[in-house]
Amino acid sequence: MFSKILVANRGEIACRVIRACRELGVTAAAVYSEADRAALHVARADEAYCIGPPPPLESYLNIEKIIETAKAARAEAIHPGYGFLAENAAFADACAAASLAFIGPSGDTLRLSGDKLGARRTVAAAGIPIIPGMSAAAGEIAEVLAEAEKLGYPVIVKAAGGGGGKGMRIVCGEGELAECLEAARREALGAFGDDTVYLEKYLERPRHVEFQILADNHGNVVHLFERECSIQRRHQKIVEESPSPALDAKLRKKMGEAAVAVTRAVGYTNAGTMEFMLDEDKNFYFLEVNARVQVEHPVTEMVTGVDVVKAQLAIAAGEKLPFAQKDVSRRGHALECRIYAEDAAANFLPSAGKILFLRGPRGPGVRLDSGIYGGYDVPVHYDPILAKLVTWGESREEARRRMAEAIREYIIIGIKTTIPFLRDLVEHPAFVAGETNTAFVTDHFDGWREEVPEVFVEKALAAAAAAELAAAPAKFYADGERAAAPTPWRTVGPWEVGRGA
Ligand code: ADP
Repeated sequence: MFSKILVANRGEIACRVIRACRELGVTAAAVYSEADRAALHVARADEAYCIGPPPPLESYLNIEKIIETAKAARAEAIHPGYGFLAENAAFADACAAASLAFIGPSGDTLRLSGDKLGARRTVAAAGIPIIPGMSAAAGEIAEVLAEAEKLGYPVIVKAAGGGGGKGMRIVCGEGELAECLEAARREALGAFGDDTVYLEKYLERPRHVEFQILADNHGNVVHLFERECSIQRRHQKIVEESPSPALDAKLRKKMGEAAVAVTRAVGYTNAGTMEFMLDEDKNFYFLEVNARVQVEHPVTEMVTGVDVVKAQLAIAAGEKLPFAQKDVSRRGHALECRIYAEDAAANFLPSAGKILFLRGPRGPGVRLDSGIYGGYDVPVHYDPILAKLVTWGESREEARRRMAEAIREYIIIGIKTTIPFLRDLVEHPAFVAGETNTAFVTDHFDGWREEVPEVFVEKALAAAAAAELAAAPAKFYADGERAAAPTPWRTVGPWEVGRGA
């Protein structure tokens, strides 16, 4: 195992990786931008290094600076988290060139999985069903119109280098195609530096079902069963669960085998996710490879007992998977709700600012992966994810009730979050029944508004307390200093503000 790694990320995922390091006895070095001096991951790490100004391009995306910092800190490996440089082939190559282990797949695998078209061709050649559509870049409009005609509307225009739900356009009829194609090309060029787009059949009301994979460098591949991530907004996941309410044992086995076959076909190593769409007739189609630890990995950990992040480190250190497929078992059901700094009642407008009061939920089967604390100022520069609330139960209904209760206990004052929205979502009859598909939010929560929150009185009291607590001095240590110094959230009084949250 490594003795020291550098965590090239921020927020809850950096905290998650640091936690895994602690458990393994690995020293964790954090990096941070000038906007993140007071961020939780900085305080949780053993060492922390400032890598530049707030804009991601000048800090968390600055390959040269991060490599240089890892070398100076004498780290042996880099964990990229998700987002930022996690799926950047040039970064993986740069790590290799600097004799640093990249905790993820190889640069070549990243190049293949980052190209949706290339991945489609490779996976189709391995005999796995892919979503009907093009296997090469869209060219002249006449040709694209003919292809769309063949697939039948609606179709979806996608960026070959896309991610995060960007660069996609649904096209309902031929009159819209040319315009959507241009718009998708523009967005793709701006977001991914490449305007290659292609067409797929747009599946209506599918479920998003993905398989967690672990693959070592010795040819061993296992899957850790599925996650369903159908509850999405603008093609981005909000709520995830494992197992999927839509799979029976037979389909699960078949899809699991397909996921392993995809892994082998693309030569994937380390932890990864093979994504599929499942249509209303329960046909499944390969969607894409996600070559990183996923936001929603905790639900898999809760039902299988396998620590995905520790497995990532072990695999990158050259260890063999200590178990085979037949040894992987599942128990119960887990749900995850993403807590974003967004105002769900105002079209999910980002909401940065100071967290005046924070109380995380607790209880049996409750896990909170969080990157915030009471008194923390949420910066405007980054992804608005604050935390992930995860619950486990023997049954889906037990996990759901635990989630409903945990959401009621979870109080964040000072900024708007998705908590009130999630509170209503997990109580919706269709969600209770497991009737989920990717149109769930548009079908049931279009124009959602918060009713008078039941925790209102509690919040008002807490706010009064928070006003005083927020005045507590924040002491953070300088670059490279050890984290022995007391941290402010351990000293702010009887509410355990931010602690463990
Ligand atoms: P990204 O890489 O941007 O996350 P994906 O290809 O993984 O994009 O798709 C994200 C989501 O977009 C899917 O979970 C699904 O909701 C929707 N989607 C993508 N392709 C299709 C399709 N062909 N038909 C229906 N929905 C789709």
